[in-house]
Amino acid sequence: MKSYDVAVIGSGPGGYVAAIRCAQLGMKTAIIEKYNTLGGTCLNVGCIPSKALLDSSHHYDDAVKHFETHGIEIPGDIKVNLEKMIARKQAVVDQTTGGIDFLMKKNNIDVYHGLGSFKDATHIKIEGDAPTEIEAKKTIIATGSKPGNLPFIELDKERIITSTEALKLKEIPKHLIIIGGGVIGLELGQVYRRLGAEVTVLEYMDRIIPTMDAGLSKELNKVFKKAKFKMQVSHKVKSVVRKGDEVIVKADNKKGDEVEFKGDYCLVSVGRRAYTAGLNAEAAGVKLDESGRVEVNGHLQTSASNIYAIGDVVKGAMLAHKAEEEGVFVAETMAGQKPHIDYNLIPGVVYTWPEVAAVGKTEAQLKEAGIEYKTGQFPMRALGRSRASMDLDGFVKILADKTTDEILGVHMIGARAADLIAEAVVAMEYRASAEDVSRMSHAHPTFTEAIKEAALAATEDRALHI
Ligand code: FAD
Ligand code: NAD
Repeated sequence: MKSYDVAVIGSGPGGYVAAIRCAQLGMKTAIIEKYNTLGGTCLNVGCIPSKALLDSSHHYDDAVKHFETHGIEIPGDIKVNLEKMIARKQAVVDQTTGGIDFLMKKNNIDVYHGLGSFKDATHIKIEGDAPTEIEAKKTIIATGSKPGNLPFIELDKERIITSTEALKLKEIPKHLIIIGGGVIGLELGQVYRRLGAEVTVLEYMDRIIPTMDAGLSKELNKVFKKAKFKMQVSHKVKSVVRKGDEVIVKADNKKGDEVEFKGDYCLVSVGRRAYTAGLNAEAAGVKLDESGRVEVNGHLQTSASNIYAIGDVVKGAMLAHKAEEEGVFVAETMAGQKPHIDYNLIPGVVYTWPEVAAVGKTEAQLKEAGIEYKTGQFPMRALGRSRASMDLDGFVKILADKTTDEILGVHMIGARAADLIAEAVVAMEYRASAEDVSRMSHAHPTFTEAIKEAALAATEDRALHI
C-alpha cells in the first residue's frame, strides 16, 4: 500500500492548490478525484465555463447593439451558433483542466481517479477503474459542493435544470424562468438574455443579489430591467411542474397572491450545498454540522485531529479564491507555520456586465454594528474612459470610518469592477484611509479613477470631476 504525508480528497481550486502547496513544503502528496478531469466545480462546471459563455455572449451583444455606433458595419445578419459557442467553452475548460494535470506532474503529486472514502482516519479507499487503498498521515477534505434544490422540485436536468445543464444547452430557451436572483441566476440569465431568450427571475428576497450592498442590487436591477429582464422579487416559489416541453412555475407574490409563469426551461439557482456523499466521514471520526458541512475549528481542523477541511464543504462564502486561500492556509499550518486569512477581505464578484464587486462591510452591516461611517460615491458615467467605451452604468462607493477615515467597505458596479476590486483589497489589507487612496496617482483615462474620486468624496466630499 502506498503511503503519503498528505492525501487531498477533491481536486477543485481548494484541493489542487492545497496539494501544490503541500508538495512545495516537502510533503509527499496524493490527490483523489472522483471524475476523470481535475479542477472540480470551478474549472469544469463553474467559474471558467460560465465566464467563457459570458464573454462569448458579451461579444454577440456588442456586435448587435454597439458595433454600428462604433462605426463597424457587418453586412448581413449577425447570428448565434450556440453549438459552436458551447464547443468553444468546452475547449477553454479542457485546456484549463489539462493545465492542472501539468501542475500535478510538475509538483510530483500522485493523482488517483475514483471516489475517495475513509476506511479510518489514516486509510482511504479509492473506488474507480483501478480500485486501491492508500495510507495518509494527514488528509485534507476538499470535496466541494453541489447545486441546492427546493424540496418540492424534481430536477429532470432537461428542462428543469441546474447551472451544470445550463452551461451546455442545445438550444436557446424561448423563455427561461430562473428561480433565485443570486450570482448564478444573474450570470447565466444574462448569457441567455443576450442570446435572445426571454428571462424571468423569481427571487424570494425583496432584492436581487440580496447578500450584497443594497445600492449594488438597485443599480444592477435598473440595468437588467433596461435589458428587458422580467425581475420578480419577493416571490416565493411553491411549485414547478413540467408538461411536455413546457415548465409551469407557481409562486406567491408579495401580496400573497398566487402567480403563474410558463416557460420552456427553468433554472434552479437557489444556492449550493456541501458535498460529502460517499466520503464515509464518520469512519474517520469527522463530524458534519446541521447543514451537512464538515465542522472545522479556527485552524480548519476537523473533529479528527489529522484531518482538515477547506472550501465549499466548510462554512463561509462558496468562492474559488476562498477555497484556494484555505488550501494554502492548511498546507502551511500542517508544516508548522502560522498563516492567517482575513475573511473580511475576501472579495465577492458577480461577472454580469456591468460587473459587481465588493469587499469589506456593507452599509447595513456597519449600521447593525453601530459603527459610524461616511460615504463617498462616484458615478462611472463621469469618467472619460466610460464614455470612450460606452460603459456608463454603475458607481464606486467607499465606506470609511467617520473618525479615523479607515476604509471599511468598497462596493462597486461597472465595467471591469471584477479587476478594480483588487485595489480596494490591497488598500484594506494595509488598513489605508480614504485619504491615502485619494492621494495616489491613478492612470488617466482608466476606470480606476472612479476609485480615487470616490475616495476623495469619502475623505471630505471633494471629488474633482462631479
Ligand atoms: P469543488 O470545486 O466543488 O471541487 C470538489 C471536487 O471534489 C470535485 O471535483 C468533486 O468531484 C470532488 N469530490 C467530491 N467528493 C469526492 C470524493 N469522495 N472522492 C473524490 N473526489 C471527490 N466561484 C468564484 O470564486 N468565482 C466564480 O466566478 C464562480 N463561478 C461559479 C459559477 C458556477 C456556475 C458555479 C456552480 C460555481 C461558481 N463559483 C465561482 C463557485 C466555485 O466553483 C466554488 O466555490 C469552488 O469550486 C469551490 O472549490 P472547492 O475546491 O471547495 O470544491
Ligand atoms: P446564491 O446564494 O448566490 O443565490 C441564491 C438566491 O436564491 C438568493 O438570492 C436567494 O434569496 C434565492 N432563493 C433561495 N430560495 C429561494 C426560493 N425558494 N425562491 C426564490 N428564490 C430563492 O446562490 P447561487 O446563485 O445558486 O450560487 C451558489 C454559490 O455559487 C454561491 O454561494 C456563489 O458564491 C457561488 N458562485 C459564485 C460566483 C461568482 O463568484 N461570480 C458565480 C456563481 C456561483
